[in-house]
Amino acid sequence: MEKIQNYINGQLIEPVSKKYLDNYEPATGQVYSLVPDSDSSDIQLAVEAAKTAFPLWSKTGLEDRMMILLKIADGIERRLEEFVAAESRDNGKPLKLARAMDIPRAISNFRFYASAVQHFSSESHPMPGGTVNYTLRQPIGVVGCISPWNLPLYLFTWKIAPALATGNCVIAKPSEITPYTAYLLSTVCIEAGLPAGVLNIVHGLGGKTGQAIIEHPEIKAISFTGGTETGKRIAATAAPMFKKLSLELGGKNATVVFADCDFEEAVKESVRSSFSNQGEICLCGSRIFVERGIYEKFKTAFVEKVKALKVGDPNEQSTDQGAIVSLQHKQKVLSYIQLAKEEGGEVLSGGIELQLKDRCTGGYFIAPTVIEGLDYKCRTQQEEIFGPVVTLTPFETEDEALTMANSVKYGLASSIWTNNLKQAHRVSEKIEAGIVWVNCWLLRDLRTPFGGVKASGVGREGGWEAMKFFTEAKNVCIKA
Ligand code: NAD
Repeated sequence: MEKIQNYINGQLIEPVSKKYLDNYEPATGQVYSLVPDSDSSDIQLAVEAAKTAFPLWSKTGLEDRMMILLKIADGIERRLEEFVAAESRDNGKPLKLARAMDIPRAISNFRFYASAVQHFSSESHPMPGGTVNYTLRQPIGVVGCISPWNLPLYLFTWKIAPALATGNCVIAKPSEITPYTAYLLSTVCIEAGLPAGVLNIVHGLGGKTGQAIIEHPEIKAISFTGGTETGKRIAATAAPMFKKLSLELGGKNATVVFADCDFEEAVKESVRSSFSNQGEICLCGSRIFVERGIYEKFKTAFVEKVKALKVGDPNEQSTDQGAIVSLQHKQKVLSYIQLAKEEGGEVLSGGIELQLKDRCTGGYFIAPTVIEGLDYKCRTQQEEIFGPVVTLTPFETEDEALTMANSVKYGLASSIWTNNLKQAHRVSEKIEAGIVWVNCWLLRDLRTPFGGVKASGVGREGGWEAMKFFTEAKNVCIKA
């Protein structure tokens, strides 16, 4: 069985303990590789390597850093199909989605930050009498990047690229459930000539390897994406150590459809925003609120399209929805479908586990599920499910739609469908979310700030925000 290796000090090495965990393919339910079960001794090795590499890397010219990041991007692109296959096999997502979204976006992350750091500037404030204050932005040192399983390489590189571009050395941990593309990235970094110790990728469990990163006194900043409960634990450990923290956490996003919207487009995109990547994108809409006047028409058209989605082997071109990421997660999603029924919900489509044939006999599949008739305050409509389950609820007025949309503890993303410009501005202002899409979903310019409000997190990623996060601002005041 193939053994994934840690990438520490420029080398691919075994975990110190020599212990490994099983890595499952969700589409088949079979173990296909082994992941290092790393612990604090592996993190210690990585921190030592990163500390040694930092003085040179932080002083390496911007253009040289840019060239290496571009080489990494080119290296992924050259091996595109290998990355695509690994991302789909690890996560269960359709191969065509990994090819269209995940891997191209990981390449863009490196290219974007290779370029962005060349244009990153800081402020200067002249005072009367000729004194000047200027802001010196310096890399932090050794930083930690921890990412989840849903968009494995996409989110991993979204953190690593700005951290490296701004001159930091990185200890990164991918999810133990989807480690393979991070492993392939290690091999690309070696091919690209990234100096030893600049990036260290250590695999393992959250509570062990991840916790060792959080607790390490010499890792000065943590960029984390994952669940809200994990975020709380991380903050509880890291905040008293005065580490810089960026936490991108869970969501329960609202899609609000007004009667005057472009109906066909709203239906089509709402299906996509609900079920892309099996509903396992933090930005997926999981609560759809529809204005009463078009509720029945919307429901009929929406359910018809959902029933036409093909759940199948991720490797097949015709598959729209692949496997749920793990057995444990499949059980969690099914338990919420059961809860929805107990709470009085009516299942309009799906609601069941699917048994596929041949290669996928042992895989984890759930039919895309639409539920109506639930009070907006019930648990199904309040808690994050993070799977192919969406609720439909009618509303009478804009105020009612906002009350329901804002009733959850989360505030990551939202979509609004309307042709009324004033309403679009008004609702965008009042909706409690870090991202508002009007008449679209998942469109994003990488220069914009990304992140949530309330229990969806603190801090912002993307563009300048990430480069600000990974640097310390020092005010230098020079008297004339
Ligand atoms: P998770 O919180 O279980 O794990 C995320 C990562 O943290 C993994 O690498 C895990 O090993 C690690 N981890 C777990 N416990 C840790 C600890 N004590 N210390 C340090 N690291 C630890 O989340 P998940 O199940 O992998 O991902 C799903 C969650 O991620 C969902 O809640 C989803 O909404 C969220 N998410 C948020 C965003 C966003 O941008 N806001 C994006 C994607 C996913």
